[in-house]
Amino acid sequence: MDVSEIIIPGDTPGSEWRLPALRFSGSDPKAPKTYIQAALHAGELPGTVLLHFLCERLRQAESEGRIAGDVTVVPQANPIGAAQSHFGELQGRFDLGSRTNFNRDFPLISVADRATLVEDLDDYPATDRLKRQLLHMALGADLVLDLHCDDESLQYAYIDEAFWPEAADLAAALDMEAVLLSDGESSAFEEAVGFAWKYEIPGERQSRLPGKLSVTVELRGKRDVDPALARKDADGLWRFLAARRIVNDERMWDEKPSPAAFSGPAVPLDNVEIVRAPAGGAVLFHRKIGERVAEGDLLATIVTRPGQPDGSVDLHAPQDGLILTRTSDRLVRRRGDLMKIVCDSPSKASRKAGALEN
Ligand SMILES: [Zn+2]
Repeated sequence: MDVSEIIIPGDTPGSEWRLPALRFSGSDPKAPKTYIQAALHAGELPGTVLLHFLCERLRQAESEGRIAGDVTVVPQANPIGAAQSHFGELQGRFDLGSRTNFNRDFPLISVADRATLVEDLDDYPATDRLKRQLLHMALGADLVLDLHCDDESLQYAYIDEAFWPEAADLAAALDMEAVLLSDGESSAFEEAVGFAWKYEIPGERQSRLPGKLSVTVELRGKRDVDPALARKDADGLWRFLAARRIVNDERMWDEKPSPAAFSGPAVPLDNVEIVRAPAGGAVLFHRKIGERVAEGDLLATIVTRPGQPDGSVDLHAPQDGLILTRTSDRLVRRRGDLMKIVCDSPSKASRKAGALEN
């Protein structure tokens, strides 16, 4: 394992950031190259601890000469966000200086222009510099995994239709309970990687990208940072790497029966119902993540004017579906997101293009 640090100078005198990148060299130049990062939203740590355990296995495999394709791991992709604290609370999602989501505004370029990402870096503030360095590393790979988590959530992923259904092996290996098929239309990290490949020949858009993968994995909820789950997910990712012949694990190839296929729902983003609060107040949830609901089922009650007659509002399921996520807040604001429900049919509500809240 080779550990190198990317130095990102701070925007004021006397400060700088250090971004460790862990590299495992493969023996087969034709094997796919893999890039995995976690905690781009700095407070989302299930992926960081997963990678801690995955690297243990990779180091062992490296010492036995069992790594075929290069693997680059950035377990904590956002030192800038990790250091942001506001009134005692970590603010790892948005850059406090610019109010920009750390997982948006990645440069949309062709992979042919990859080298330009790290040219004239002094022209950019630290946050943009960080984004350019991360994207530059990712575009050197064929398989790119960006590990996030939701608030309170099942295991799921955002996968561009360009990589589906080939990526069902990842969904099965990580035991995902749903896949949201995205349309690659925002500037999130995963979508910027997909964009760069689709426009490898500038001006000509490829809609299928065989042999490539760029995905945002939502490793359950932000409090699901747990030794058993981290090891289980590390084993899952290992199985994926073995099945794609990036690491050699003969035991796994002989394994019978072969790992189960992905059987969960894989739906377009339009089929996700986002249940929003019609008014602010204290929320009482009647249903949990992982439950299936029918149209009209009572999901939540918001106590808007406590103690007063008609002081609450009931919210019902807009259609049948699986409850994928739920907010952990209990004081909710008007139009705040309460739940995501995966449904068979498109939602009637409009949405902005690109990944939801990852
Ligand atoms: Zn995230």
